[in-house]
Amino acid sequence: MPVGDLDELTFDNRLTSSLPADPEADNHVRQVHGAAFSRVRPTPVARPVTLAWSAEVAEQLGLGPGLCSSEDFAQVFGGSRVLARAEPFAASYGGHQFGSWAGQLGDGRAIALGEVLDRDGRHQTLQLKGAGPTPYSRAGDGRAVLRSSVREFLCSEAMAHLGIPTTRALCLVATGDEVVRDVLYDGHPRPEPGAVVCRVAPSFTRFGTFELPSSRGDLALLRQLVEFTLRADFPHVSASGAPFEEQVAAWFAEVCDRTADLVVDWMRVGFVHGVLNTDNLSILGLTIDYGPYGWLEDFDPAWTPNTTDAGTRRYRYGAQPQVVQWNLLQLAQAVVALTEQPEPLQAALEAYGARYQSGFRAMTTGRLGWGGPRPGDEALIDGLFALLGSTETDQVLFFRDLARVPVAGGAGAEVGDDALLEPLREAWYQPHEVVGEVREGALSWLRSWGRRVAEGGLADAERLRRMDSLNPRFVLRNYLAQEAIDKAEAGDPALVAELLDVLRRPYDEQPGRDRFAARRPEWARHRVGCSMLSCSS
Ligand code: AMP
Ligand code: MG
Repeated sequence: MPVGDLDELTFDNRLTSSLPADPEADNHVRQVHGAAFSRVRPTPVARPVTLAWSAEVAEQLGLGPGLCSSEDFAQVFGGSRVLARAEPFAASYGGHQFGSWAGQLGDGRAIALGEVLDRDGRHQTLQLKGAGPTPYSRAGDGRAVLRSSVREFLCSEAMAHLGIPTTRALCLVATGDEVVRDVLYDGHPRPEPGAVVCRVAPSFTRFGTFELPSSRGDLALLRQLVEFTLRADFPHVSASGAPFEEQVAAWFAEVCDRTADLVVDWMRVGFVHGVLNTDNLSILGLTIDYGPYGWLEDFDPAWTPNTTDAGTRRYRYGAQPQVVQWNLLQLAQAVVALTEQPEPLQAALEAYGARYQSGFRAMTTGRLGWGGPRPGDEALIDGLFALLGSTETDQVLFFRDLARVPVAGGAGAEVGDDALLEPLREAWYQPHEVVGEVREGALSWLRSWGRRVAEGGLADAERLRRMDSLNPRFVLRNYLAQEAIDKAEAGDPALVAELLDVLRRPYDEQPGRDRFAARRPEWARHRVGCSMLSCSS
């Protein structure tokens, strides 16, 4: 039933009613022991204005357009008015940051309002990111700037429309307050406009949620957290009635599977998370915590958008599958304290590797229009990645337009060189480099690809359909997000809405919207916010 008034949202706060709360009510920074969360209210903001909302998420929650454009909506999702049945809280968790144990982290600026039932009767936690200080704020101010909030809002929705598991974003609200940040951490702090994003997910539980009590030897709390997660988020596992140890093993195996599938998806679309710390990995296998993420432009497996990680490039594109497995290992080490049965967890970690490998192979052969993997494909796939690395190549455009490369001329004749290369011309950042060996290499690979396509036996129309369903035309290119931010900071959020609309149908050709599919322009190559991002947000 549509909601007429935000106070009519149906809350069913499972987490706060099932797990131990921090007994201390005062909102000051501290170590919180023996509790899963602290009750804390959002800090009201100066002048909340809704800059954008997601029609799909609103609809899922039963919120109509009238309600979303109301003054009250901005008040509630900016954090100035707390709904009567909300039970706001900040969750406690820890994490390994850049490979080192960081101790207690927790929601330092995100405050959940509680769990509401969506139109399908499923629980959705509404969480305001940038809603003010909490007991977990450490040295932070609890706020978020507009630029990082635009990025989180747009990318959450873009990811969902790509069909990739993610936390969602209901809305983006400007607060009217200023927030001081030093964008590149180089001694130039400046005031920036503040904002709040309302994130929505069945659960915001992270790997680090389990690591913290485990690191403290608090097995009672750890067990409560695992049992709650099994009940609330993995009911099919808890309903089995199997012994607890078996449920934990089945649960961990499923987390490994979901996470492997998620990383295959990221690799497909060229998404680089940027900060794959264990506090930023979701127990549900959702993409979570959009910070200094980026989208691969030219195909460079060593690329990371995160300047904070420039030294070791721990979280570079090509390292994501391995580093995520390392994070799963940390989760296994945290929960094994409860079962003392490492073997099934070890087996699940190994299965992660196998699942990722086979998923990546199936995904890649699908993207290439081959209709399923075959022995012998590896050499051709290696050749593809060598080709993508031989000259700066936009991987989104390359794969998308590959579907438009002719595989055979009339009556089975060979396709001419120019006809083979023509559909791909937009993919090359330096067209003048596509000569000599590079050009010969491209032609030779394309001819082999065409022969393999023919062996795959898919009819052209079906092949095009399948390739287009895996190779998006539109992704949230780094420079496009920055353009939307520049305009929003200047007071005009229209490009945020327009981008959101384009990204609703990433796999469709959208005539008249070619500009949103264009490769990165030269001005964006070294621009802060496009190719270089920090954790400052
Ligand atoms: P992130 O790098 O965004 O995953 O954040 C790591 C930790 O720092 C989390 O505990 C965040 O809640 C916290 N944090 C990040 N920014 C702020 C901020 N402005 N104020 C308070 N805590 C923050
Ligand atoms: Mg985080």
